[in-house]
Amino acid sequence: MAQISSLSALDPSAYDIIIVGSGPAGCSLADRLSAKGVSCLIIETGLNAYNQDIQTAYTAMDTRGHFGDQHWAQHWIRAFGGTSMVWGGWCAPLDEQDFEAWPITRSDIRPYYDVAADILKLDRVINSYDAAYLPGFRFKPFRTVYGAMRFGEEYQSFLTAPGSVDVLLGVTVTALQPDAARNRVVGVGLHQQDGTARRVSLRDEQRLVLAAGGMGNAQLLLNPAPDSETGVGNETDQVGRFLMEHPHYINTAALVGRRRLMPPTPPANFGDHVQNILADRTTYAKTGKLSVAMELVERELNPRDRVERFLRDKYDGEFIAYNINIRSEMPASPDNRVTLAPSRDPSGLPLLKTMCMAGSDTVRPIFAVLEALGKTVMARDDGRVFIHNETLVSNPSGGGHTMGTTAMGSDPRSSVVDANCKVHRYTNLYVAGSSVFTSGGSANPTLTIIALAARLADHLTGAA
Ligand SMILES: Cc1cc2nc3c(=O)[nH]c(=O)nc-3n(C[C@H](O)[C@H](O)[C@H](O)COP(=O)(O)OP(=O)(O)OC[C@H]3O[C@@H](n4cnc5c(N)ncnc54)[C@H](O)[C@@H]3O)c2cc1C
Repeated sequence: MAQISSLSALDPSAYDIIIVGSGPAGCSLADRLSAKGVSCLIIETGLNAYNQDIQTAYTAMDTRGHFGDQHWAQHWIRAFGGTSMVWGGWCAPLDEQDFEAWPITRSDIRPYYDVAADILKLDRVINSYDAAYLPGFRFKPFRTVYGAMRFGEEYQSFLTAPGSVDVLLGVTVTALQPDAARNRVVGVGLHQQDGTARRVSLRDEQRLVLAAGGMGNAQLLLNPAPDSETGVGNETDQVGRFLMEHPHYINTAALVGRRRLMPPTPPANFGDHVQNILADRTTYAKTGKLSVAMELVERELNPRDRVERFLRDKYDGEFIAYNINIRSEMPASPDNRVTLAPSRDPSGLPLLKTMCMAGSDTVRPIFAVLEALGKTVMARDDGRVFIHNETLVSNPSGGGHTMGTTAMGSDPRSSVVDANCKVHRYTNLYVAGSSVFTSGGSANPTLTIIALAARLADHLTGAA
């Protein structure tokens, strides 16, 4: 097999694992499982090529709060390869402190970051490079990639080469049927683009993994199970809560002064990157415990600025100036959430409604980190930090990073999946993707998504 021609040609009992969604999470999971000889089926709403009608009909959303009306819909691509069709390819691992609220530590995921770098064909040094900068700060660049990996292109072999991964395109998973005790998913509803629908049963040992993106995973678990008012996995009303982005405040400050403010140069095998500085552990603990990535973009002196001219003359030939772009962490708030809208997509799944505000608890720590940087720079007589207040209190843009909607935790009253990405109380239902992030740090999420998918593959095969 490889690509299955239609819903009627599907034999669902033939697979060990059924994966919903073919983005970086779904493809990486299938890749690692198939390498271990496990048979997988990927079910994907989209087609091999992007289709605007499918995109519009399946992602329409009622959006409230920050980030803009089309934000979440535009960042959930419905095609083979998922949102990697448009992603930028920037990569960095989360920090140890980013895992403080998670039921796993960075050491649990550390080996899988290297697997993720291998999958993305990046040097593993991106996971270990972390250099000193000024006292209280570190230099931790984001790897940037020109021509980022498109998972749909990279994994065309899933469609063409008979192996242990089969793919059903143009089919949406619409419903999860639990058993009477709500401990297992016993069946799933499927809908093909031409309107054909089918309900299939799961064998006892079969497992189902939702890898449908930050919105899609929540949508499937929010959708009330047949003959019920509650979605599978939403028994404690936690699905869809804790929606997070990485608020971007571009050109929101400036770092101006002596040439020795230049950050270090990473090793050559690190590759292309943006220059990012971060608070170290001590500063982080004092400034509100949110990760604030400060990208330094070198620029010319602003000749209209009196203080800059003064500093240029003072440091005589040793002058350097940077604009600072902020990419920040949002606190996980239960009130930032995804819920179901009254209207439905063509498969019959309820469409989504979002409410997400990046409030003062997001912005205050950014001010605090920038002020701490400014104090350090002044104390060393190295220059000044200027903060552009108006930019920092305006509507931020985001990175297209949809996180937190099926959060990981050990308590089912405040989370949806456990430390192994298994939905609480269900023995055969798992989630892959940034919807499981308990907190988001400030690093782009996809490297961590792939690392978690690789870890999940090992868990499902008994290797982790
Ligand atoms: C413009 C842009 C730039 C970005 N740049 C970066 C970057 O530089 N670095 C970074 O780390 N991240 C970046 N991202 C984010 C990155 O694209 C996502 O983190 C990543 O694609 C998520 O992978 P995923 O597999 O979890 O979900 P997705 O890639 O969204 O894939 C989910 C798939 O599931 C399918 N699906 C959903 N529901 C169903 C259903 N019910 N039945 C069947 N199939 C379903 C969808 O059609 C989709 O194909 C960017 C995103 C955007 C939009």
